[in-house]
Amino acid sequence: MYDVIIIGAGPAGMTAALYASRSNLSVLMIERGAPGGQMNNTAEVENYPGYESILGPELAFKMYEGAIKFGVENAYGIVQNITDQGEFKEVVTEDKTYQGKTVIIATGCVHRKLGVKGEEEFAGRGVSYCAVCDGAFFRNKRLIVVGGGDSAVEEAIYLTQFASEVTIVHRRDELRAQKIIQDRAFANEKISFIWDSVVEEIKGNEMVVTGVQIRNVKTDEVTEEAAGGVFIYVGLDPLTEPFKASGITNDAGWILTNDQMETSIPGVYAVGDVREKGLRQITTAVGDGSIAGQQVFDFIETQKDAQLTK
Ligand code: FAD
Ligand code: NAP
Repeated sequence: MYDVIIIGAGPAGMTAALYASRSNLSVLMIERGAPGGQMNNTAEVENYPGYESILGPELAFKMYEGAIKFGVENAYGIVQNITDQGEFKEVVTEDKTYQGKTVIIATGCVHRKLGVKGEEEFAGRGVSYCAVCDGAFFRNKRLIVVGGGDSAVEEAIYLTQFASEVTIVHRRDELRAQKIIQDRAFANEKISFIWDSVVEEIKGNEMVVTGVQIRNVKTDEVTEEAAGGVFIYVGLDPLTEPFKASGITNDAGWILTNDQMETSIPGVYAVGDVREKGLRQITTAVGDGSIAGQQVFDFIETQKDAQLTK
């Protein structure tokens, strides 16, 4: 039995692993892909203290090296559910069951779908959710980016190195993105905006995307814009399906914790983007991970004391 099982190896999970293993706890970190989480799909990170700028995958690798330095064990697996067996928890993947005295959930979230006609049909044929992964396929094409948050605006800027032109379609007349990111987009000659508008349909021929149908939400006017690709950044959905039966999520699926990262199940913690929280960033994920990594140590010590006084 492990002292701690960590589910997910993004910045939150890897930091929890570092803190727990440095406290001499036995730690298993289960990940369904490459360690690094969303950092692997981020071009440049400019707001992680200590680095003026660093590539997302590079930061991911540095964090991974640090996380495993004190003896963390890694396992590949897609966690399907967890059960509370009282003195220990069981974590079930597609082919194995692990036991841990504590569990830290760090599964993050995924991009939300727009839910319009053509989105599924043209996925991978002009519709993308990852500029870093797919941007280079769209050299000299006009691109549409949907959304007004940090992701949409930052990735639109990234795409200008490949595209002939990038048009951001946003449903309001002001962006949600951080001011510094907005200012860069406004100053970029390749970026234009279509305000107060939503993409209603993604159109294409039998092969690829050729454009979008857009509706102005104030005037109801419908127009068509030609485009070789559509990048969708309309927010995030939590990856909490495996934990819903445990009753630790809210109606929208985010996991509720206190500021010690404790869920309503003793010994089960949640950290990073998967939590209901205000600011989803690498820094806040790392902060959450360090708190939970320390808390599991205190929890296990308290359990030991309780056993001794029985
Ligand atoms: P994640 O990074 O999402 O990691 C979760 C991990 O859990 C993943 O590796 C996933 O594979 C794994 N997992 C999920 N479900 C399971 C399962 N069932 N079983 C096993 N493993 C599972 N933040 C910044 O601070 N600066 C930036 O510049 C920045 N740029 C961004 C750009 C984009 C395009 C996006 C989408 C986000 C960006 N962010 C940025 C936000 C930042 O990446 C996240 O806040 C951060 O990665 C959250 O860390 P996390 O560890 O909570 O989750
Ligand atoms: P987000 O902040 O939730 O923004 C989503 C955007 O999509 C909003 O502008 C929203 O419009 C719009 N939207 C939502 N549903 C829509 C729909 N159905 N149709 C059209 N538009 C829709 O999501 P995000 O930009 O992916 O960012 C997620 C988290 O990662 C945030 O915490 C963010 O700070 C973080 N992040 C940070 C950085 C960085 O620090 N450099 C970079 C990327 C992401 P409204 O504005 O009208 O709600």
